[in-house]
Amino acid sequence: MKQSDHDVLAARRLEKVHEAIGEAALQAGRDLDEISLIAVSKTFGPDSIRPVLAAGQRMFGENRVQEAMAKWPPMRADNDDLDLHLIGPLQTNKAKEAVALFDAIHTIDRPKLARIVAEQQRAQGRALKLFVQVNTGEEPQKAGILPKEAKRFVLQCREEFGLNVSGLMCIPPQDEEAGIHFAFLAKLADELGLAELSMGMSADFQTAIRFGATHIRVGSAIFGERTHNRAPQ
Ligand SMILES: *Cc1c(COP(=O)(O)O)cnc(C)c1O
Repeated sequence: MKQSDHDVLAARRLEKVHEAIGEAALQAGRDLDEISLIAVSKTFGPDSIRPVLAAGQRMFGENRVQEAMAKWPPMRADNDDLDLHLIGPLQTNKAKEAVALFDAIHTIDRPKLARIVAEQQRAQGRALKLFVQVNTGEEPQKAGILPKEAKRFVLQCREEFGLNVSGLMCIPPQDEEAGIHFAFLAKLADELGLAELSMGMSADFQTAIRFGATHIRVGSAIFGERTHNRAPQ
């Protein structure tokens, strides 16, 4: 395929996702303004991202700090209204770079990380949108705070570290019904007075919208299948 054909395809896929969001929002009686689409561009290079940018998409998600640092600064130079979200696990030794590059982090999941992100925000004079990741399936290989520790952790973020947490994020187990996890996360957020919910991917974002998602993270439905797949953690 020529680059121009790829570009048309990407724009069409993005349009389809918007249509599906519209449909789900309508069914759920929700306002489209409440739902932000994060285009997950991990593993894709600038040639794949530019057509999506050209189609008007401004919010993008990456799961690795290193990869995002190599990719985004040049594109940001041409588009100063980008909104970059880190959706993958964050190591404390990358917190400084992450706070400098990203506008949002979805994966705050332990006190040590929360403390360092808070310190970096103060040092750099930045205030990112922050989500606490909850390991709703209690999967040992997956990041996220355990459900039974989530409330205490969110309060600790607020009171001990002075972090302004906006919402909760989850990645349901692959072999379970996602809706159960979305409902659980929505209830937990409600109990904590948190307004935002980062949940739903290509396979289940319509379900997530039904359960109140404010941020859906959609990769392959926009960019196509990833050749070197990186499972979400
Ligand atoms: C890769 C990834 C996504 C997007 O997955 P798709 O199935 O391609 O839509 C969403 N969230 C996280 C945390 C991811 O790592």
